[in-house]
Amino acid sequence: MKIIIMGPPGGGKGTQAEYLRDTLLIPHISTGAIIRKAISEKTPLGLKAEEYIAEGHLVPDDIVIAMVKERLGEEDCRKGYILDGFPRTIPQAEALDEMGVTPDCVLCIDVEDESIVERLSGRRECKDCAASYHVKYNPPQKEGVCDKCGGELILRSDDVPETIRERLKVYHEQTEPLEEFYRAKGLLRMAKGCEELEDTTRNVMRALGVEK
Ligand code: AMP
Repeated sequence: MKIIIMGPPGGGKGTQAEYLRDTLLIPHISTGAIIRKAISEKTPLGLKAEEYIAEGHLVPDDIVIAMVKERLGEEDCRKGYILDGFPRTIPQAEALDEMGVTPDCVLCIDVEDESIVERLSGRRECKDCAASYHVKYNPPQKEGVCDKCGGELILRSDDVPETIRERLKVYHEQTEPLEEFYRAKGLLRMAKGCEELEDTTRNVMRALGVEK
């Protein structure tokens, strides 16, 4: 099964993608996580991407498309995957078409702008395995420590208010048009994002046609 998961920054797509990965046993491919890893390892891709992320802008299409193409060619993707954060522009969606990838569904988590800043400023991410938490809505068992791998939980440098506002603007301008793109193909499923993680997960599973 191939699922694309989209939604505004901080809408919970990473957390829902992790849940789907553990439920459906297919890889979770987050372009944001791949880019952040490249930045921390100072690879050529990371060096190019760093300034875009820091300003809340999208990394250029050609860089991200090449990265996804390589990742989808790996062995573990043969039975399907959850694409989290890709595509984010119409040219990226067209590139996916050209790669011969037809998703089974495109899940869009719908969250109002007003709740995004609160969600993002409380978000924490594991430095080592990129698992996502929220200090209020999805706290780890031990403060500052990843439940899954024991890694340190950090606030992402792009989860600060000025960058969050820019990322939202970019989302509305460049990513939201994908809703229409995939609706026209009959693939779009909307799921309402809620305060409580469990409620969002239930909406996601319903949107996928699985009762939880
Ligand atoms: P995310 O972890 O999905 O919120 O992504 C964090 C940041 O990585 C975004 O704000 C972009 O700067 C960059 N990024 C992730 N995915 C893409 C993509 N598909 N196209 C362009 N930039 C991306």
